[in-house]
Amino acid sequence: MNTKEFKTLPLSAEMLENLKDIGYTEMTDIQAESLPYILQGRDVIAEAKTGSGKTAAFGIGLLYKLQVKKFRVQALILCPTRELADQVAKEIRMLARATHNVKILTLCGGVAFGPQLGSLRHGAHIIVGTPGRILKHLKKDSLSLTDVDTLVLDEADRMLDMGFSEEINEVLTFVPKERQTLLFSATYSKEILAVSASIQNDAITVKTTATESGNKIVERFYEVEYGKKLEVLVKIFSNFSPDNAIVFCNTKAEADEIANTLQTKKIDALSIHGDLEQYERNDVLVQFANKSCRVLVATDVAARGLDIKELSMVVNYDIPHGSETYTHRIGRTGRAGAEGLAFTLYTPNEAQNANEYKSRNPLFEDASELKSMNGFEMKPTNITLVIEGGKKDKVRAGDLLGALTGEAGLEGASIGKIDIYDRQSYVAIKASEVDYAHEKLKNGKIKGKKFSVWIL
Ligand code: ADP
Ligand code: MG
Repeated sequence: MNTKEFKTLPLSAEMLENLKDIGYTEMTDIQAESLPYILQGRDVIAEAKTGSGKTAAFGIGLLYKLQVKKFRVQALILCPTRELADQVAKEIRMLARATHNVKILTLCGGVAFGPQLGSLRHGAHIIVGTPGRILKHLKKDSLSLTDVDTLVLDEADRMLDMGFSEEINEVLTFVPKERQTLLFSATYSKEILAVSASIQNDAITVKTTATESGNKIVERFYEVEYGKKLEVLVKIFSNFSPDNAIVFCNTKAEADEIANTLQTKKIDALSIHGDLEQYERNDVLVQFANKSCRVLVATDVAARGLDIKELSMVVNYDIPHGSETYTHRIGRTGRAGAEGLAFTLYTPNEAQNANEYKSRNPLFEDASELKSMNGFEMKPTNITLVIEGGKKDKVRAGDLLGALTGEAGLEGASIGKIDIYDRQSYVAIKASEVDYAHEKLKNGKIKGKKFSVWIL
């Protein structure tokens, strides 16, 4: 399919080369549909499932237009959560490697304001952030958006769900009217259309059909008595042995309780919800993404916008309210062509709600057909070491790798993902090697310096 080749677009040779380096051999469907318009400067509403490559669609678009020599904020990307903003910034940084000196700054709530002021003083070309925090900067005059010519609303549906419309409208009063506005959403609704009508100009709508994204998801529904859900959940794990899974439930208390009970049943699980401090959330997300945690039990808000690659299973422990939430939840599995497993448990009095999903052709199955298995366990592949040193201490991934494989003598294969934050770094170590690695790092030096190291 020639039309899906990036080189059919008027992109620079450097950008094309960079895309090849990143491993983007061809456009995803939503990219092929939207990029021609985006590059023409048109306003676009793009609706496509989670995991279909929307970030690169707008990222390539805004970089195409960016004038690096003009050191002013030219693009603003609004996202619903800090995690999502971080992911978007990361993807755009990767895409921007073809262009020298592009400065991208994230501005999100939940982190200290002061350091953001410092970063803003140094200037930026692209700002990625959450509406509330951006507005705070605008009101304090620490951010100017008068040169913005591209505005992106990413996960617009989620932002509306989370009640950000007012803040978005207020932010918009600081952005020039003459601009390109791109609206991305996993679902399409009246509300989204209304937002489009009020902030976009002659927008083109591009949608990709349900079958496009390469997500192959098998959806199974089980009717379960309320008190029996945990038992069924454990059986689902033992019968389908997923590499990892997210279990969605409705309340924070439930999330904690499910995670605790799973642990007592030797199923490695952590919970995530809105009551956790930012750093606790981060600890959990890092562990789930680096394979130090097999099961994440989450409320919707907590798991919003997460891009976890290779998620094998999603379980709706509580039936989601509405098909949009359902689509959003299950869209996290089965990415990149791999087959995903989506399970939904419902109680007999929720049967009617469950029936609403029949149009999607899910399998309604009998939980009693799930086998009980003795001795089933889900252990994490890795365990995470935390090093109390990060970017601000000039610690880089290479330094940590060097310390572990050099003096400590660990094999490269025993080391998983490395995440470096401002003041802390996380290294995933093969579970069987973690005590050894901990000992070595604790007693050794990284870049000639001693750092505190602990096991998470
Ligand atoms: P969405 O925002 O639609 O949920 P993302 O933009 O987060 O999806 O992309 C999902 C994944 O697909 C990311 O890991 C991204 O790096 C990858 N990706 C995006 N575009 C391409 C492409 N053209 N080829 C291969 N992978 C891609
Ligand atoms: Mg996205």
